[in-house]
Amino acid sequence: MRFLNSRSRLFRPPFCPNPQCPHHRTDSPDWPHKRAGFYRRQIAPRRIQRFTCLHCRRSFSSQTFSTTYWQHRPGLDKRIFMKAVGGMALRQIARDVGCSPETVAGKVARLGRHCMLLHSRFMEFADPARIVVADGFETFEWSQYFPFHHNLAVDPDTDFWIYFNDSELRRKGRMTSTQRKRRVELEARFGRPDPRAVRKSMFELLKVATAGSGCVVIDTDDHPSYRPAIRALEIEVEHRVTPGRARRDRSNRLWAVNLLDLLIRHNNANHRRETLAWSKRRQGSSERLAILLVWRNYMQGRREKIRNSPTPAMERGMLSRRLALEDVLDRRLFASRMELPASWRRYYRREVETRALKSQRRHELSYAV
Ligand SMILES: [Zn+2]
Repeated sequence: MRFLNSRSRLFRPPFCPNPQCPHHRTDSPDWPHKRAGFYRRQIAPRRIQRFTCLHCRRSFSSQTFSTTYWQHRPGLDKRIFMKAVGGMALRQIARDVGCSPETVAGKVARLGRHCMLLHSRFMEFADPARIVVADGFETFEWSQYFPFHHNLAVDPDTDFWIYFNDSELRRKGRMTSTQRKRRVELEARFGRPDPRAVRKSMFELLKVATAGSGCVVIDTDDHPSYRPAIRALEIEVEHRVTPGRARRDRSNRLWAVNLLDLLIRHNNANHRRETLAWSKRRQGSSERLAILLVWRNYMQGRREKIRNSPTPAMERGMLSRRLALEDVLDRRLFASRMELPASWRRYYRREVETRALKSQRRHELSYAV
């Protein structure tokens, strides 16, 4: 793919990095720019080429196009990426690589944003799926009183993970009387999630996952919100419902998404059951999930136990080889040069609000007035 160029000795900037410049959105080898000397820095490579855009006069360097642009300790990115998909919690990663948990959190957020852009870029060239399996992965943020779904869409022909988003839920299920009282208190203080959240998010999930196809088969369980979400899609759909109680083995039509559930719980420490490392915010959970998505689709064999098993992206005919970490982090991608689906745009801008924190912030503000 064109944006996965291997690094050449003589770097040529493919476009102007200024989002306001007319030479920003398209790649053109002869856009008007000039070399403008070098600057020196403390880490290798020490000499960095500078450039000037002759149209908007923006000055920039070869580093502007690197995934480590403006980063302290750029060498940590690769190590943190693999540990974040290898089941380690943020504090464990911090101890292991020798930096603060805040540094790890910042780098994971940044890697997550990069992975959203990388996947979206690949999807621009992808054929639409024939079948989509969708389901909600149940987890929580802040405390068990704030459950939410990560809604997942998978192509069962290849196990390719197409998209995910989230929807807040109201705590349900068995509770002690003390827990019930606590729920009443918390809901009075922080409000209740939108009762149509699952329906709305499932609609967005499926709209993105079925983009470009005229007719598609969608497999889900019997959750009552899924049917109206699917009816609202403007394409021809055959909706196949598999009861949630059905045996969850390979013969189950939801197998691909059930397998992904297991993979998420196994590889992302924040979603393990009974963990101490649960997500404090849906925002952070989404960033980590995007890293896992890139690893699952492009870097990891479809069948983990089979050596050299092709990746889901290879099975889908999107790439001819498995991506290494160097490929994934080869080049900085610019959000201003591409379209992101609505939920990912919110994640990218860090706009997802955690109910418990939102009200606390308001509270502090009212003190300030
Ligand atoms: Zn320019």
